[in-house]
Amino acid sequence: MEKTEMLIPEIKLIPSPTTEEAKAAVGYKWNDVAGTRHKLGGEPTGENVEIPSCVMCKQPMTCYATIDSIGDDYDLADCCVINVFVCLNCGTTSSQIDQAHA
Ligand SMILES: [Zn+2]
Repeated sequence: MEKTEMLIPEIKLIPSPTTEEAKAAVGYKWNDVAGTRHKLGGEPTGENVEIPSCVMCKQPMTCYATIDSIGDDYDLADCCVINVFVCLNCGTTSSQIDQAHA
């Protein structure tokens, strides 16, 4: 029987910058969504994201976190996100940048 990936419940993360410099780095002037999509678990964010298979043991990986672009000054390829995957079987991780419009 083929294993399917495990889904961790989605846990939203909210940036809490503590310095003026950090506060200025967060958010976009012309985009209200980018910069707010940080989370643990849930489905990976983005269009047509394929769940990767582990390079070590070939098991389907689990989306462990999604890290959003930070803001205008620290943008990831035009408001992309980074999806972080982990193999819960052997502990291997992988990440990829994905385009996401919502
Ligand atoms: Zn593995």
